[in-house]
Amino acid sequence: MRPPFSAHVLRCNDDSTNLQVGTPREDTMNSPLIRVHDLWKIYALGDVEVEALRGVTLDIQAGQLVAIMGASGSGKSTFMNILGCLDRPTRGTYQLHGTDISGLTADERATLRNREVGFVFQSFNLIARTSAVENVELPLYYGDTPLAEQRPRALAALAAVGLAGREHHLPNQLSGGQQQRVAIARALVTQPSLLLADEPTGNLDSETSREIMQLVRRLNREQHLTVVLVTHEVDISAWADRVITFRDGRVVSDVQQEMRHGDAQSRRGPEAAPA
Ligand code: ADP
Ligand code: MG
Repeated sequence: MRPPFSAHVLRCNDDSTNLQVGTPREDTMNSPLIRVHDLWKIYALGDVEVEALRGVTLDIQAGQLVAIMGASGSGKSTFMNILGCLDRPTRGTYQLHGTDISGLTADERATLRNREVGFVFQSFNLIARTSAVENVELPLYYGDTPLAEQRPRALAALAAVGLAGREHHLPNQLSGGQQQRVAIARALVTQPSLLLADEPTGNLDSETSREIMQLVRRLNREQHLTVVLVTHEVDISAWADRVITFRDGRVVSDVQQEMRHGDAQSRRGPEAAPA
């Protein structure tokens, strides 16, 4: 079976065997997971050079939920691709969990990516005619998780996103929000330290978007999971600890937010959450 998207994103070299839902990751606490210094990405298009990133410097602490905003073409996806070790900067340095990406070969980057990063996309990217649990098992199948561990871990990941009882549904038997939950379970089944999401709610209505953000926020808090997500919507960025805005390949604002939906909800209950 060939997935309809690049298999290297799904391969996993994770040797841990149990999904630790709700357990903080001690090793990543209180240190920057991401360190980016004077990052440039220049694409060569024939004779023309496009400066997609022009000197981005920032740290992201482990456990932060960060929203990236900015107009189309401002460099958000280029930045996410580098954070996800899918691409390398032209200049500058990127350290993920203490490892400098610039010095790695493509294979080494793939290994680091498989261990550290989970991806969620706007269009879910589930495999059609393949059940929810089989979709979630795929990254384990491509890695070296023992066969006997794969099903229990996938089931635990589905339960963690609120999909117990839907394990054998096919993607087209699930709502958009449920499909995105499957995609989140698939991204997290390998226990990455970083979840990257490019417009994860872009195809969802506002109520479903709120539920997905509630889930992402809970996973972020319970598992000390670092989340970087791209969004165009202020309602979505309102869930973040921090909002970074790009313009023309540069960071033009970087704001820590006091207001936290998740915290507000745990204090006052879901009804009291701002829209
Ligand atoms: P955003 O995600 O914010 O819309 P991108 O990071 O996709 O922005 O693109 C930033 C700039 O880099 C744009 O001008 C875009 O056209 C250009 N760009 C992105 N990817 C490539 C590529 N593979 N080759 C050439 N130019 C690219
Ligand atoms: Mg983009």
